Amino acid sequence: MSLHIPFENSYVDLPDRLFARQKPTPVRAPKLIAYNAALGTQLGITNASDDAELAQVFSGSSLADGSDPIAQLYAGHQFGNWNPQLGDGRAVLLGESEGYDIQLKGSGVTPFSRRGDGRSWLGPVLREYIVSEAMHAMGVPTTRALAAVETGETVFRERPQPGGILTRVASSHMRVGTFQILAARQDTEGLQALVEYACARHYPHASSSAELLEAVIARQAKLVAHWMAVGFIHGVMNTDNCTISGETIDYGPCAFMDTFHPGMVFSSIDHYGRYAYGNQPEISAWNMAQLATSLLPLEDNSDAAVQEFTKLVHAMPELIRTEWRTRFAAKLGISAMVAEDETLIADLLEIMTATKADFTNTFNALTDGAISETALSHHEDYQDWHHRWQTRLETETADPQEIMAKANPVRIPRNHQVEAMIQAALTGDHAPFHTLLAALEHPYAKDESFATFMAPPKPDEVVKQTFCGT
Ligand code: AMP
Ligand code: MG
Repeated sequence: MSLHIPFENSYVDLPDRLFARQKPTPVRAPKLIAYNAALGTQLGITNASDDAELAQVFSGSSLADGSDPIAQLYAGHQFGNWNPQLGDGRAVLLGESEGYDIQLKGSGVTPFSRRGDGRSWLGPVLREYIVSEAMHAMGVPTTRALAAVETGETVFRERPQPGGILTRVASSHMRVGTFQILAARQDTEGLQALVEYACARHYPHASSSAELLEAVIARQAKLVAHWMAVGFIHGVMNTDNCTISGETIDYGPCAFMDTFHPGMVFSSIDHYGRYAYGNQPEISAWNMAQLATSLLPLEDNSDAAVQEFTKLVHAMPELIRTEWRTRFAAKLGISAMVAEDETLIADLLEIMTATKADFTNTFNALTDGAISETALSHHEDYQDWHHRWQTRLETETADPQEIMAKANPVRIPRNHQVEAMIQAALTGDHAPFHTLLAALEHPYAKDESFATFMAPPKPDEVVKQTFCGT
């Protein structure tokens, strides 16, 4: 094999109850759909020009030298309910390269598969590739996509579907649920080792569980505010889908909003709207409370530790608010946000809700001074709001339009376009995938050749529900 990945395998030095050694299961006829060469270079991968070889390696059919593949153990709260054991049921970590995890998703059964087949169909693979790369291009911390491969095998879901494997890259795959499972098993030794590992890998300045907690809270607060600012709904913010690194992970039933509504839900399994757009900040804090709880055994559950951790968690909503205000102020051209700006932002969002405004295009119209072309401008409160906004901008020294252009993506992965891309892929046509990927590579740059990707769905194109990637 000429492909070279400079693998390290630091996770296997942790207590072996945290993972199971597991090779990916080879597939029948792997075919490469996409390889992210720029990311590959960043990971130190060399000699990656042979598509057949890339398909072999990123389908798990051949193992690259230096890989020590494992499936990781974790637990988690799913929709608020405790599940004592989950783990990588369809994923295998090949190893780390330049400090990043390289993981195959859809690569066959593992000891944690429960009743699943360990596989994925092509739809979720391409969806995650597009959405995660779009998030990265927007500047939102996220796992990345290194490769997408067709397996040549059939996967049985509601109907037979072509199988696919995504190669996911993350600064690590440690989740809140990784800590939770050790706490639940009263494995303080394992927990201590994991805390030290997490600090060394992500927060070298942190040297205690309290410092780790504080650092994760800060990253997660920034992350959820960033999601809100680009209109992203994660859809399944279970504690096993909440990273210690502060990266977005698990693009299952996620979606970008077209029409703005704080209660927007897409996930077919989110019956009560637990993970609705507007609930995300609260859920993020709830998840951090679970992390705090799982770290307490290291402090002998002492009153002082309970108090300290509680204080950190209780401070999170205000941290999120500050991040949220700053991001939304920038979306309105305000560089130095003051507390009063919150009303200005909230009032606009209310008018947007009432007029069923397109989230992304409204901020673009505001940036371009083209709001008169939208329904928003006809709302009875709009003129007054506009006047307040303009008066506020007069106190700005920076150029508001410049700030807005950097804060408001022009193109997002709209559900109907992602769906259309998947439908084309199922007929063997991957051109729409590559075009959509290209359209989202520079999401803040105006580009007439990608104008169609700015269009909200027509009534018959609206995607009302999204599904888990299983
Ligand atoms: P997710 O909702 O994608 O975060 O997955 C939740 C849990 O279900 C994780 O432990 C996954 O590994 C597991 N899982 C999801 N799909 C499959 C599958 N097809 N086979 C085995 N396990 C799966
Ligand atoms: Mg998951």
